[in-house]
Amino acid sequence: MANSGQKVVLITGCSSGIGLRIAVTLAKDEKKRYHVIATMRDLKKKDKLVEAAGDAYGKTLMLLPLDVCSDESVRQCINNVKDRHIDILINNAGVGLLGPVESISIEEMKKVFETNFFGVVRMIKEVMPDMKKRRSGHIVVMSSVMGLQGVVFNDVYTASKFAMEGFCESMAVQLMKFNIRLSMIEPGPVHTEFETKMMEDVAKMEYPGADADTVRYFKDVYLPSSIDIFEAMGQTPEDIAQCTKKVIE
Ligand code: NDP
Repeated sequence: MANSGQKVVLITGCSSGIGLRIAVTLAKDEKKRYHVIATMRDLKKKDKLVEAAGDAYGKTLMLLPLDVCSDESVRQCINNVKDRHIDILINNAGVGLLGPVESISIEEMKKVFETNFFGVVRMIKEVMPDMKKRRSGHIVVMSSVMGLQGVVFNDVYTASKFAMEGFCESMAVQLMKFNIRLSMIEPGPVHTEFETKMMEDVAKMEYPGADADTVRYFKDVYLPSSIDIFEAMGQTPEDIAQCTKKVIE
């Protein structure tokens, strides 16, 4: 349970990558300012997080199950937090989807929106009443540079992040008068399983339905230049965790 003076931080998608690192960084804060509720949809995946958290596990870090795609799971998770009191919500959970639109079914596209857009909306709707009542709170959303700029064959992922940007910009204005902050973080490429999977997908990707010029542009121009950018500027989950810490301080 949080000590008085400690901020309760709930983070989504902590089984790997950026979410895991944010959870560990905040739980190990030298001034012990945060009581971290690290959530993941499958607690069987907790070992990596527990190991990285070390002594903080059970003290400044606890675990709860949470699937952001399920109304029931979101409700249950927040009900399990003492007094439903969350000072800082970090919406990190996200999924990618790569490929020509012609080869992706509407069902697959909906799954991306279900996580990246409605997952965030669901969480905000659930924590907002308590934050409004207390007239304080901070909601952080992990967007992406792809929430600001479209990228070939990332059409659906990009659209889901754009949608979230629009939703959050609009919400931020309404939350301001309740003293609730809403911050977006827009990382470029980050070395995580997400990015590894993306690269694997690219390697085995076929381009049914896509026109030859777009495929050529993607393979000969976009991919080589993004790999260069990645190698020159790619960030680590630790970089994003430190950035997130600064945002909430
Ligand atoms: P990872 O794939 O390493 O982590 C994604 C996390 O989201 C996992 O813990 C995954 O859990 C979780 N997740 C997926 N679906 C759900 C769900 N329905 N409910 C709860 N959790 C879920 O990727 P990253 O750490 O790289 O990505 C984290 C965020 O950062 C995402 O929002 C992504 O869009 C964003 N981002 C990533 C960039 C990158 O280059 N890596 C760049 C810019 C932004 P599970 O293990 O159960 O699948």
